[in-house]
Amino acid sequence: MTELLRLSAWELSEKLTAGEVSAREVTAAHLDRIEAVDGRVKAFLAVDGERALATADAIDARRAGGEKLGPLAGVPVAVKDLFAYQGLPTTAGSKILAGWLPPYDATITRRLLADDLVILGKTNLDEFAMGSSTENSGFFTTHNPWDLDRIPGGSGGGSAAALAAFEAPLSIGTDTGGSIRQPASVTGTVGVKPTYGATSRYGVIAMASSLDTPGPCARTVLDAALLHTVIAGWDPKDSTSINAPVPDVVGAARRADVTGLRVGVVRELGGEGYQPGVEQRFAEALAVLAERGAEIVEVSCPHFDYALATYYLIMPAEVSSNLARFDAMRYGLRVADDGEHSAEEVMSLTRGAGFGAEVKRRVILGTYALSSGYYDAYYGSAQKVRTLIMRDFEAAFEQADVLVSPSTPTTAFRIGERVDDPLAMYKADLCTIPSNLAGNCAISVPCGLSPDDGLPVGFQIMAPALADDRLYLVGAALEAELGRRWGGGILLDQLKGELA
Ligand code: GLN
Repeated sequence: MTELLRLSAWELSEKLTAGEVSAREVTAAHLDRIEAVDGRVKAFLAVDGERALATADAIDARRAGGEKLGPLAGVPVAVKDLFAYQGLPTTAGSKILAGWLPPYDATITRRLLADDLVILGKTNLDEFAMGSSTENSGFFTTHNPWDLDRIPGGSGGGSAAALAAFEAPLSIGTDTGGSIRQPASVTGTVGVKPTYGATSRYGVIAMASSLDTPGPCARTVLDAALLHTVIAGWDPKDSTSINAPVPDVVGAARRADVTGLRVGVVRELGGEGYQPGVEQRFAEALAVLAERGAEIVEVSCPHFDYALATYYLIMPAEVSSNLARFDAMRYGLRVADDGEHSAEEVMSLTRGAGFGAEVKRRVILGTYALSSGYYDAYYGSAQKVRTLIMRDFEAAFEQADVLVSPSTPTTAFRIGERVDDPLAMYKADLCTIPSNLAGNCAISVPCGLSPDDGLPVGFQIMAPALADDRLYLVGAALEAELGRRWGGGILLDQLKGELA
């Protein structure tokens, strides 16, 4: 593998600025890597090679002309196929949108382009971001670079696998219940769910609007912070966007100092059902934080036990409403438009053919939970429990500056293992869902390989809304100290096998 592929985004940026390498060379190296390995990893739904190279050339020319460019100018990025990007099909991983060409760019797409990042292509995901393995993609399953027979997590498995397979140094995901952090956890990469409203949802195909949060994915904490800074910030086009300054996440990642910081271990996120190797690596990482001067306390968040049930009422309710727009008239697929079927029949046949089983399950569940006879019993109750979960967080954040847990109860499971068991699949997000329900922020950073199966384990750090910088402060401290223990570098340096 060429050395360029191993560099972090920050290292690439330094070499690009110093003129040691051109954006074209960096882009071409990643396109070659995609060409060489993506047949096995299957991280990408679409690769945009020609446009990426043309963009890189334009950046090189401007740099040569003496123009001062942003810190990530010329660095490649892969984007989850949920973000509108003109000129490339945007599918949301669904057959119902196959071939749809968006007439506009998502705000985040535009910010990437405005800061001169080079978009390599669109990554695979579970259909409409519903899943924890990418097995629900309407097109194909993505494979985990650590073991090609295992899932790369989901829904953003494509964005995480692209990083772990060195096909891209940066990628973009969305996190509604864990779809950035769980894939990061099982692929040995870094994934951040920013504060809800800190990153724009404009042009992001909606799953559950009160939960959906775009965020950065990277191989190091500093890289994630650099990308966070590019994509975050107020957007008047998104009515839930927060008009507040973006915290200094890059400064926090560089400081990496946890002295005196109170770290709260959430009692409810561990124990029964958690893989022993995951718990062991989590405990060791906690000891590392203590050695570096953090104060470890235990906190209890009793309503977290109901988070999964709450999420699986609120999320499908919003899904059933958001997905009503796929009506065979406005976007993508249209079935039986032969003059012999009524509009209603065309609509129903199109939705029947275009949506996969998991999407249909959630539309049905959500419609039921919102129906007049059951609204109070299900949707109404779930909203009340959501408030109790927020209060648990508020109380816990009085005792601790950040809360921590494993990112997910197990390491990467085998492809096929949970696909027929929705409940087992949903449990992959036990630890990540509370932060979505409360709207606060969280990160997953690698904390080692599980001794029971040799697969990556993720450490989750949660912080209050708008305190995203704390995630990077603690994440970078952990990364630095663990990296030293691993002999320098990052967990992915231990990747073995055909993709190393
Ligand atoms: N796995 C969760 C689900 O299926 C989370 C999805 C997400 O964050 N987009 O809903």
